[in-house]
Amino acid sequence: MSPISQSEGVAKQGVIVVGSGLAGLTAASQLISHGLTVRLLERTAKPGGNSIKASSGINGAPTKYQPISDDVFYADTVKSAGKAMSSLTAHRETLIKTLTSSSGSAISWLAETKGIDLSRVAQLGGHSLPRTHRGSGQTPPGFAIVSALLKSLKESPFFHLHTSCTVTKLLYSNNRVGGVEYTCEDGEQKELHGPVIFASGGFAGDGEGSLAEYRPDLAGYPSTNQPLPGSQSLLTAIGAKLIDMDFVQVHPSGFVDPANLLSPIKFLAAEVLRGEGGILLLKGKRFVNELDTRDNITHAITTTDPNTTSPKQWTVTLVVDEGTYNAAKSHVDFYILKGLMKKTTIADLGEEALRSIQLYASTVVGKQADEFHRTSFGSWKLTDPMLESVVYVGAVTPVVHFTMGGVLINEKSEVLGKDGVKIEGIWAAGEITGGVHGGNRLGGSSLLECVVFGRIAGDQCTEYIKASW
Ligand SMILES: Cc1cc2nc3c(=O)[nH]c(=O)nc-3n(C[C@H](O)[C@H](O)[C@H](O)COP(=O)(O)OP(=O)(O)OC[C@H]3O[C@@H](n4cnc5c(N)ncnc54)[C@H](O)[C@@H]3O)c2cc1C
Repeated sequence: MSPISQSEGVAKQGVIVVGSGLAGLTAASQLISHGLTVRLLERTAKPGGNSIKASSGINGAPTKYQPISDDVFYADTVKSAGKAMSSLTAHRETLIKTLTSSSGSAISWLAETKGIDLSRVAQLGGHSLPRTHRGSGQTPPGFAIVSALLKSLKESPFFHLHTSCTVTKLLYSNNRVGGVEYTCEDGEQKELHGPVIFASGGFAGDGEGSLAEYRPDLAGYPSTNQPLPGSQSLLTAIGAKLIDMDFVQVHPSGFVDPANLLSPIKFLAAEVLRGEGGILLLKGKRFVNELDTRDNITHAITTTDPNTTSPKQWTVTLVVDEGTYNAAKSHVDFYILKGLMKKTTIADLGEEALRSIQLYASTVVGKQADEFHRTSFGSWKLTDPMLESVVYVGAVTPVVHFTMGGVLINEKSEVLGKDGVKIEGIWAAGEITGGVHGGNRLGGSSLLECVVFGRIAGDQCTEYIKASW
């Protein structure tokens, strides 16, 4: 696509991007690469949204770091989406094809164009192959990606970041969005005019509002998300169609902080700990394939009685050995620093746990098939567990983590109305959208959707501006 001269019409006023998570930053980067001015509005004082917390990584296949021939990413995603595929089947298939087939170029855009280290690859739950990328150093992937994109955006004179500014309304007439109304710290209502890319994230932190409306059964669950309202009502006010709003991902492992047992906000125990070999114990016993999908693991936990009801919590023990520790050292060291994990010995967990760990260790070395059909054991090295063997442990519980539902888009990131017709002048990307993951998102595919559909939104918006002249 040829760059647009800054002297030309709309390019001067700029495109409005709502939300400074990965989807918004990606769209902004793409727009700037085409020579457009971007005004990014973010309601919080610090940019980065929930994206900055992402801890396991971003999916991609094939990539230069994932040399295994991988033609099953699409099939894994469809399988994980589950029964949701029976409605809007062709539309969902197109979205998933777009997601998975663009995943390799999403990784190379981040790694090669933006210089972000994504050289380490792990296998997360629900994936048939390792394809979740993160850096080899200490920095978690969400922070590494968000800070690199922000840094390069801030170097551009065409990027204008307005933090502590909340978009309150979309300006809309004749099936076309022409700008936004917003308020900043001074409380004054202001307007910006131009096409809009909506990247406001999901509603997993909106316990009292959207969650209570769409999933009242999840009332009382702790969450990993910022406790802020969802912004999807701004889109429904202009006739946008929402789908899958009741598909909410409860992640099986949020840390129960021993210093703040009943906090409603939990730190995520990154899935990579299980991917690299870690196991889960309930009352000293394994109870599930730790690499099963998030909803299956959560189901296995929540069908037992909770320990507390406010918040609704279970006590599951996450155990990693020295091998897993070394493979996920930066994560575990960080959790130890935060007081969420501790280095101890199996004796601390009791005889029942010793028996479970011994059985798992003998499975890892191939003495028998796993009783829960786990086939990948990451970097687990402990072959002969004894009471004095060193392990790293933390208490975890299911947490509301991600909302699969949102505004319906097509493969061009265009926002669709209730009649299925695109609404002019607006695109959406990231967790605000619905349909890409169906009933269950695969770990690592949310950062991916932000990059894939954020880039598409930036490109499509640029085409729209060119065509409007
Ligand atoms: C702890 C944690 C770990 C995770 N780990 C991973 C992982 O390893 N891999 C993975 O793929 N996914 C992971 N996820 C999920 C993933 O991080 C998010 O789903 C994804 O980053 C969402 O990005 P986004 O840009 O759509 O939204 P966000 O990053 O949430 O950004 C949206 C932004 O929009 C702003 N906003 C909302 N409404 C308005 C408004 N009206 N006006 C102005 N601003 C507004 C918000 O304040 C926010 O800053 C994780 C999530 C959490 C919470």
